[in-house]
Amino acid sequence: MSSIGLGKGPQGELADLSAAGLLRTLKPLDSPTGPRVIRDGRELWNFASNDYLGLASDPELAEAFIEGVRKYGAGSAASRLVCGTLPPHRLLEDALAAAKGTEAALVFSSGFATAVGSLPALAGKDDVLVLDKLCHASLIDGARLSGATIRVFPHNDTAKLARLLETIRAKQPAARVIVVTESVFSMDGDLCPLAEIIELKDRHGALLFLDEAHAFGVLGPHGMGLAAQLGLQHRVDFQMGTFSKAAGLSGGYLATSTAWRDLLVNRARSFVYSTAPPPALAHATIASLERIRSTDGDHRRKQLRENISILSAKHPSPIVPVLFGTNDAALAASTRLEEHGFLVPAIRYPTVPRGTARLRISLSAAHSPETIAALASEIGHR
Ligand code: PMP
Repeated sequence: MSSIGLGKGPQGELADLSAAGLLRTLKPLDSPTGPRVIRDGRELWNFASNDYLGLASDPELAEAFIEGVRKYGAGSAASRLVCGTLPPHRLLEDALAAAKGTEAALVFSSGFATAVGSLPALAGKDDVLVLDKLCHASLIDGARLSGATIRVFPHNDTAKLARLLETIRAKQPAARVIVVTESVFSMDGDLCPLAEIIELKDRHGALLFLDEAHAFGVLGPHGMGLAAQLGLQHRVDFQMGTFSKAAGLSGGYLATSTAWRDLLVNRARSFVYSTAPPPALAHATIASLERIRSTDGDHRRKQLRENISILSAKHPSPIVPVLFGTNDAALAASTRLEEHGFLVPAIRYPTVPRGTARLRISLSAAHSPETIAALASEIGHR
């Protein structure tokens, strides 16, 4: 029998992952998501989701989704440029641009699709993308797909970023240079030094692409993000975000100028060559945006801040990491917490750097303070 060139084959590769303690398997829930979920027949407090405001299981939001289906049907049936742009897509983009204070906004089917579509549309082989070392996989993949030169600066190290920008400018005075970073880092829950980064990118004639995925709905006036919190939103060239976390749904966006938006409409391949998100989802997202901006949203953010302070006095975001180092130690801690009724995921390489395996506690306004106190005493982390 002739052999096919499969290298080690999938079984061999899975065995390698397993031997390295890096094998992942799907662990489905047996219930809807929410602050309390069922897995393997057991009820657990859910500290694993990114549902920071508790909107994913909100009945009014579910109703808005149903209303969207009734009004606009099930699917959008075509890409946005062909005939998939339906009334709620336009309304959502207008509402988002107004909320963000930008000229325009463009919605994608996910945050991931936003990053891998927009970075290659904004930068090409003559350009330079300068990424924080801890940028999310979608930003890294988008940067790679762009074909631009990629430079990386150590996490939040503005001195190194300044030197990098000087070097780039000395060599390529005319290149388009885009600094890419996140406002809340997804696995550490820390913030980027946004004001300093903006100073630097302006000083060196660069642009800034800021992924507000974990800040949208959570930080700033009306939940409009870190840039808005610091009053700097007009100095961020590209504000990216997702509706899959605090907004409780799914989808991604880029808020920017009309000209950049028009360029993305022409060039972002995940936008051009992909069917438009279901119109009912866009309709529900408008409702979610309204909720996020409402006084109910303000109450939820206040509750969230109080919940965060129970676990960690001065922590700036709902993502609280507890570092263990080894994969086995982090996995064992996660298993032990699950036995005690808490769902807290262990995060390993390649999601985080080697040697920094951790528990990632994700807090929500939907958690009760008592539950968080119980978790805190379980992990001895006050
Ligand atoms: N950016 C960051 C920082 C993220 O954490 C995520 C989600 N893990 C994404 C982008 C991708 O967003 P989505 O889940 O909507 O695809």
